[in-house]
Amino acid sequence: MADTPTSPVRVRFCPSPTGNPHVGLARAALFNWAFVRHLGGTFVFRVEDTDVSRDSQESYDTLLDVMRWLGFDWDEGPEVGGPFGPYRQSERYDVYADVAERLRESGRAYHCYCSQLELDERNERARAAGRAPGYDGHCRALTSAQTDSYVAEGRKPVLRFRMPDSPIVFDDLVRGVISFQSEHVPDYVLVRANGHPLYTLVNPVDDALMEITHVLRGEDLLSSTPRQLALYDALAQIGVGSGDTPRFGHLPYVMGQGNKKLSKRDPESNLLAYRDRGFLPEGLLNYLALLGWSIADDRDIFTMDEMVAAFTIDRVNPNPARFDARKCEAINAVHLRLLPVEELARRVVPYLQAAGLVSEPVPPQALATVMAAAPLIQERMTTLGEAVDMIGFLLVSEEDFAIQPDDAAQLLNSDGLEVVRAAYDALSFLAEWDTSSIEAALRTRLVDELGLKPRHAFGPVRVAITGRRISPPLFESLELLGRERSLSRLRDAADLS
Ligand code: GLU
Ligand code: ZN
Repeated sequence: MADTPTSPVRVRFCPSPTGNPHVGLARAALFNWAFVRHLGGTFVFRVEDTDVSRDSQESYDTLLDVMRWLGFDWDEGPEVGGPFGPYRQSERYDVYADVAERLRESGRAYHCYCSQLELDERNERARAAGRAPGYDGHCRALTSAQTDSYVAEGRKPVLRFRMPDSPIVFDDLVRGVISFQSEHVPDYVLVRANGHPLYTLVNPVDDALMEITHVLRGEDLLSSTPRQLALYDALAQIGVGSGDTPRFGHLPYVMGQGNKKLSKRDPESNLLAYRDRGFLPEGLLNYLALLGWSIADDRDIFTMDEMVAAFTIDRVNPNPARFDARKCEAINAVHLRLLPVEELARRVVPYLQAAGLVSEPVPPQALATVMAAAPLIQERMTTLGEAVDMIGFLLVSEEDFAIQPDDAAQLLNSDGLEVVRAAYDALSFLAEWDTSSIEAALRTRLVDELGLKPRHAFGPVRVAITGRRISPPLFESLELLGRERSLSRLRDAADLS
């Protein structure tokens, strides 16, 4: 491979723990992880929790939980530690204070005393005069007398980075050569007047100190790249980090409904919802991989091992990707079908427990039922959570068994109840309670003798037995439910009238 790096590759996944983890985060983690696992490098997980107003411990815990659920492992980061820790930025403030001071001493950053009002006014004037808005360099070269008078006024300075006056050009791993003119990238704030360091400082400082070699992140961050590149240069100059600037690759936008960028607040972004509905992590990740990457032109389904083996950045497509919830479900359904049935049963159990259908620890009888039912539903499922409605009728206690009112209204009318009574008669003296005997008895009585179409014959029986119009195959369901419970449900349904 042409681009095999000579030094060890180190990537970072560095989310901020705000709100619920979203699809964009998972895709960034996935691309970094596949990239670095393919090359045998180091996956660093860093938590960017310096925004005290937005970050929370709860979001942090959820983030780790979701990362584990998705099956990611990290070589350095929370809970595993590593040589460049701590990996939570909230534990690194002294590092940032030190670097900020050294940047100021070196002249690459300077104190800016402008008030917000002054900045706004000057911006307004620039706009009116047809010049680009943004910081105008007012405090770049203050005399000590000017500084003294600002200090005497009680002003507290921010620390601003001095952008170079030359254009910034870099070779993006996904999009090729990109250049930014300096007038479009004004000097920017690194540290607030209250001493609080900003993302603009802490993210590149940690990338430098943690010796990150490749930054793969969303295109929404492209505009911060020229500023960060200039800052890496300054950091190298003052001896922070290894001195090597990481290579950048910007992953394509993901478009949601109505051709708008998928936002982290859109419901289809919420990773917890995928877990709650019972997506398989391997199904969801397979789909997220397709948001900007492909393993081959005519292939959608692959495992994470296959992705790692195949992942190269040159197959990342710079064009926006479209988030298609239906396709995500379809891919998950394929992964569900690929599971061995015992594994499917094992993964379904927590969803049945959450619905109160199976207790904890799992009683052997319940497990046996789920195992027996799993082959009946495997082909019909899109998510694990659907098992609750599909096989709940086998697990629910007879007191709690209830027929869906809409389905009863439609199918258990007077004709339907006749059918249920006939089914009860046909089954009540059956010698063998197995699928083929059950099927033969019902077909003889309902289809041959009563002359019903199969749909009219079996629909009412299905509703009486499973509580729903949609269920696993009927004869197998009857066998699994057992003679006694089946007959009693038919009897109860017939008595509804
Ligand atoms: N903490 C930043 C974010 O979540 C990281 C951005 C980056 O990858 O540089 O947006
Ligand atoms: Zn200023």
